[in-house]
Amino acid sequence: MIDTHVHLNFEDYIDDLETVILDAEKAGVSHMVVIGIDEGSSRLAIELSKQYPNLFASVGVHPSESENMFEMQATSTQFIEDMLKEDKVVAIGECGIDLYHEDYNLEYQQHVFKNQIELAKTYQKPLIIHSRSGVRECIDMLKPYQGQVKGVFHCFNGSKEEANEILELGFYIGVNGPITFKNAIDAKDIAIHVPIEKLLIETDGPYLSPEPYRGRRNQPANVKYILKTLAQLKNMSEADVDTITTQNAKKLFLLP
Ligand SMILES: [Zn+2]
Repeated sequence: MIDTHVHLNFEDYIDDLETVILDAEKAGVSHMVVIGIDEGSSRLAIELSKQYPNLFASVGVHPSESENMFEMQATSTQFIEDMLKEDKVVAIGECGIDLYHEDYNLEYQQHVFKNQIELAKTYQKPLIIHSRSGVRECIDMLKPYQGQVKGVFHCFNGSKEEANEILELGFYIGVNGPITFKNAIDAKDIAIHVPIEKLLIETDGPYLSPEPYRGRRNQPANVKYILKTLAQLKNMSEADVDTITTQNAKKLFLLP
């Protein structure tokens, strides 16, 4: 199992990171991709990846952070380019569009997202896309780059039609905790609809804990519950879902 999206660089894990990583290993998690949301958290993701052999880093600017970036007039994403030279940086992100909160500034978000798409193209690194309430906007921005960039729509919550468009763009779709929630019919439907060869599993820890730990701090060991539910939804064995989703992640992020 690979946890393809987890924020072990957040202060939620400051007191017991070692235990969290050990528990993940015990649960059968072989690799974890630690996701940055701004310069500081991206730098920390790299530092952690140097300390722990099974951690890898993704560096980038989250859409909600991109607005802060403009406020601070630090409009450059130059730091990402510098960090891409580090050995264990396997992706750019999370980046994208987030229109969930009403006071968003779409223009800022688009500017910072576009910079990161360009970097992905130049350096041939996959993009980790955050698209809360902004799936349509993300797809529209990626269409001109079809065949030139790849990546994953993490924590996808769009429609089947949008999922189809994302698959046409050559991107993967990330599933997490909500597929284990009884009432999350849409999330389950998407997991059933998208071919297993195009799915990645993730926790998005510390957020979105799956059942039976819903509401508590999430952690990479919990990816097993997502795998288990996905196997049920797909009517496949857990071993097969594990093998295929692990291959998918290794292929996209070029993991050892
Ligand atoms: Zn995230």
